[in-house]
Amino acid sequence: MDTITEASVLTRYDLHSHTTASDGLLIPSELVQRAVTMGVDVLAITDHDTTAGLAQAAETIWQRNLPLRLINGVEISTLWEKYEIHVVGLNIDVAHAGLCELLYEQSQHRFHRAQEISLRLEKIGIPGVWQGASHLVGNGQVTRAHFARYLVDAGHGKNTAEVFKKYLIKGKAGYVPALWCSIQQAIEAISRAGGQSVLAHPGRYHLSIKELRRLLSHFAGQGGDAMEVAQCQQASGEREQLGQLARDFNLLASLGSDFHQPCSWIELGHKLWLPAGAEAVWRDWS
Ligand code: AMP
Ligand code: MN
Ligand code: MN
Ligand code: MN
Repeated sequence: MDTITEASVLTRYDLHSHTTASDGLLIPSELVQRAVTMGVDVLAITDHDTTAGLAQAAETIWQRNLPLRLINGVEISTLWEKYEIHVVGLNIDVAHAGLCELLYEQSQHRFHRAQEISLRLEKIGIPGVWQGASHLVGNGQVTRAHFARYLVDAGHGKNTAEVFKKYLIKGKAGYVPALWCSIQQAIEAISRAGGQSVLAHPGRYHLSIKELRRLLSHFAGQGGDAMEVAQCQQASGEREQLGQLARDFNLLASLGSDFHQPCSWIELGHKLWLPAGAEAVWRDWS
């Protein structure tokens, strides 16, 4: 008799990833192919404020008969007090009018912010940023990551982390505050589009534990469904701590690599599991 290994009975989920529809470097067909290679069974594509990558991903899965379930997702930028908080939507109806309208407004903000970023960088003596960044954006949604990549290519820093620090974060010359929607608006649009809303990467907002609890209380109070508790790279104990917070605030638990591009420390499906006692965001998925 064949022995069933643990790996063969576990479904591997990755519910946060990006394509060239926003700031990822793989086109949707490459991303789904890579997910299969990495042993992922269920993948959510969650581009920044756009769902444009999903159609090609679904088409590829169908054409190549890939053993992969695609979850229609999105990552919406919101403003909560002075913080930019990301809300992931899972299993959304991408044709829902209210959601489409919200994403359209968000992309308008992105476009205007991008122009303003370019102007500000020009003022400090870095010309041609708009043209350079747009070239990298192609048909996708413009993000600060595109500016960072252009600035690196143009020799203004050795990597994206460095140019973010030098030019693109709060307090630096190229930082332009964005007029994102509220958490409440994002949750409402996701919920009306039939999806679940997930607070993305709660460990990445540089919040004190007190502030994080306030954010979670607000998110849950507005009808948020879940929070991410697992990522590829986490400080020891963070997964369990976030799992406990999810329970404290009655939120389901999600996980995702937030994959943008092949690199040595973040990979699709890598190190993604829920801590003991967590209620999975997918528990009621049929
Ligand atoms: P935006 O939504 O336009 O503000 O762009 C945010 C995106 O830029 C994030 O989703 C990341 O992909 C990327 N990003 C943000 N901060 C950094 C950083 N410090 N280093 C590298 N990439 C970053
Ligand atoms: Mn990104
Ligand atoms: Mn994010
Ligand atoms: Mn993301």
